[in-house]
Amino acid sequence: MSISAVKGFRDGLGPAACVSRQIEDAAAGVLRGYGFDEIRLPILERTELFARAIGETTDIVEKEMYTFEDRDGTLITLRPEGTASVVRALVEHHLDQKDPITRLYYTGPMFRHERPQKGRHRQFYQVGAELFGREDPLADAEVLACARDVLDAVGVRGARMLINSLGDGACRPAYRDALQAWGIARRDRLCKNCARRVDKNPLRLLDCKDPKCREATADAPLLKDHLCGECDDHFARVRSLLDALGVAYEVDPRLVRGLDYYVRTTFEITADGLGAVAAVGAGGRYDGLVAQLGGPKISGIGFAFGVDRLALALEAAQPGAEDRAAESLAPAVFIAVLGADAEAEALALARKLRRLGTRVELDGGRSLKSLMRRADRLGAGRVLIVGEEEVAARRGTLRDMIEKRDDKLAVDFDLDGEALLLAVGVEP
Ligand SMILES: [Zn+2]
Ligand SMILES: [Zn+2]
Repeated sequence: MSISAVKGFRDGLGPAACVSRQIEDAAAGVLRGYGFDEIRLPILERTELFARAIGETTDIVEKEMYTFEDRDGTLITLRPEGTASVVRALVEHHLDQKDPITRLYYTGPMFRHERPQKGRHRQFYQVGAELFGREDPLADAEVLACARDVLDAVGVRGARMLINSLGDGACRPAYRDALQAWGIARRDRLCKNCARRVDKNPLRLLDCKDPKCREATADAPLLKDHLCGECDDHFARVRSLLDALGVAYEVDPRLVRGLDYYVRTTFEITADGLGAVAAVGAGGRYDGLVAQLGGPKISGIGFAFGVDRLALALEAAQPGAEDRAAESLAPAVFIAVLGADAEAEALALARKLRRLGTRVELDGGRSLKSLMRRADRLGAGRVLIVGEEEVAARRGTLRDMIEKRDDKLAVDFDLDGEALLLAVGVEP
């Protein structure tokens, strides 16, 4: 019996893998332009890192982590997100001592044991960025503009950026108490989930998706009316910088995040084409997190995009991404080898073209007819035929697959570089 993949885990194949790679490359290009250096993070971390960083009472830590004991008894977890690991690395390597401002980005798989659905898989891919050492609103505006530029570079048009301020240690605790008291007084009208979490995590009342619960909390107190002067000024400055840049956003006073470490600016990006999970990315400021993980008192702000979700949003914005990717996977040249005597010459020619950056499919050991059928199926534009006659003349025959026309002995085997590319009909 054959073995299938674990539920919720998928293989990225052909054009789909190609689209994911294009998205990651486009995002990384933008991030490098913004001065972020890549950090290649481990997949596994000590469980306590996520428990401390994300918060013991969050859904992620309570229910969704892949946690197990290593052979030496250490409790380890497949990373459910990237920020905690980046902060751990920052603290471990004292990166702030080399430069008080650190910009890092990462790409790679994350793991959460959630119910699989469209746009949600148990192994999913993220590209994320973190900026440390800057508390000023300019940093927030820069990071938000960067997130917008990632969307533009990927090709996701029409995405909505929702922003809010979550306050800070000076103003949020009092607000949290007020919201909690408000929620407890109305516990019987809340959904089951909120009736429970109002005791531990009352902020989540605001982003509950249950329609009846939303109605019950329609007039709940909002943080925007409880921000301290400094948080209010910070948020106003971020918005005015975004306005000046022409970066589109909407203020959503009910936007809160599932993670305990966020303060002040927080944001979520939604796009069409994702079904029930509308967010393609999210982020925010987490000024207390570095210290909370044993590091110095350094502020941080960052975001992460889901690569699979960006792919869905891209498909909605510009249908046919996978078809375009499939086209890019077609070989530019298909070399048909006829007979053992032609093999060495054909292989040398293929290698020369490949080293010039051309995608070449090499195939032989069958009839020309069968090789042509395969070249056609792969969408190869041209076939270079290398047989006995060609080897004797040291020139290959080129078949134009669109016009179905042979150019006898057209390609001189001794050509190289641009001349060779032109001879086989590839744009240098
Ligand atoms: Zn609820
Ligand atoms: Zn405040």
